[in-house]
Amino acid sequence: MAKDYYSILGVSKSANDDEIKKSFRRLAHEHHPDKGGDASKFKDINEAYQILGDKQKRQTYDQFGSAAFENGGGGAPGGSGGFGGFDFNFQGQDFGDLNDVLGEMFGFGGGRGGRREKRGQNIEVDVELSFREAVFGADKTLKLYRQLTCEHCKGEGAEPGTKVNECKTCGGKGQVTQATRTMFGTMQTAVQCKDCHGRGKKAEKECTVCGGHGVHRREQSVSIRIPAGVDDGAMLQVSGEGEAPAGGGRAGDLFVRIHVEQHPTFERNGNDIVSEMAIPFSVLAIGGTIHVPTIDGDESVRVAEGTPDGTLITIRAKGIPYGRSGTRGNHIVRLVADVPRKLSKEQKALLEQLRNTGL
Ligand SMILES: [Zn+2]
Ligand SMILES: [Zn+2]
Repeated sequence: MAKDYYSILGVSKSANDDEIKKSFRRLAHEHHPDKGGDASKFKDINEAYQILGDKQKRQTYDQFGSAAFENGGGGAPGGSGGFGGFDFNFQGQDFGDLNDVLGEMFGFGGGRGGRREKRGQNIEVDVELSFREAVFGADKTLKLYRQLTCEHCKGEGAEPGTKVNECKTCGGKGQVTQATRTMFGTMQTAVQCKDCHGRGKKAEKECTVCGGHGVHRREQSVSIRIPAGVDDGAMLQVSGEGEAPAGGGRAGDLFVRIHVEQHPTFERNGNDIVSEMAIPFSVLAIGGTIHVPTIDGDESVRVAEGTPDGTLITIRAKGIPYGRSGTRGNHIVRLVADVPRKLSKEQKALLEQLRNTGL
């Protein structure tokens, strides 16, 4: 079934990345099953974002439509579908090249005649960090709603204590061959057997928790460590924290997209932190000590006599850490003369004296 990912996300075909992301976040929030939303709608929204939120996949979708991402047609309900699941594998010589090309595009090392390891879907989440958390790193607990191996049947799909037989539909292979008409002509595609959900085995009595799929969707908290020094827009990959594939296999990965909140006074420039500080012009003129706020607290800085307005002062190693090396960038403060607006009589008199001297 062709899906219109644009209308699912409620954006136009010309929407930019930002609009797509904004709309996704709003809808995902609104339809989250934990908040009483519809799980299938939530799944559609996620699926649409997996495609439209990725430049390359979006391009492919614009060109070929959602057929390029479907399970060769049928798609087992609630099975390995997941997020659009690039769960197809072209068979037959004529499509060897295409298979390679698509394999490259979607990263499922298909290769000619190669057997693909069964993997769960990757998932992507957004995490908001304060400026401080981004500098020093943070431990975050994420609530993920994802497909996990069923605990009740340990992924076997059978009610514990009941018999398991070879699936008659697929002869134990877990896949059946299906002829699909596509824009490239008729293709033989191997699709997951719907009877055994790809396991090749069929339970005499299906698991009462997962309905025989061996996996089911549930919410679980996952703790992750955000390394010090991450920047806005960074993508962290957490291996094996994605979705579990139906029928056993390696779990997908979790991708964490980092968003860093703006700081009221600090800005990031590479690994330096930059700020601006207004100080009395008398300090610039005759020198003095000032206290510069840095991410590590106030630092005493000696201002030399005759420092020009706009001077940059570098406070070493109070910036952003470089990876795990422990070394840090600098804090750079720009000193600007604070021209007083309200003066006491006495101050005014002193300044007048100064002016008379030609300053
Ligand atoms: Zn089967
Ligand atoms: Zn189960």
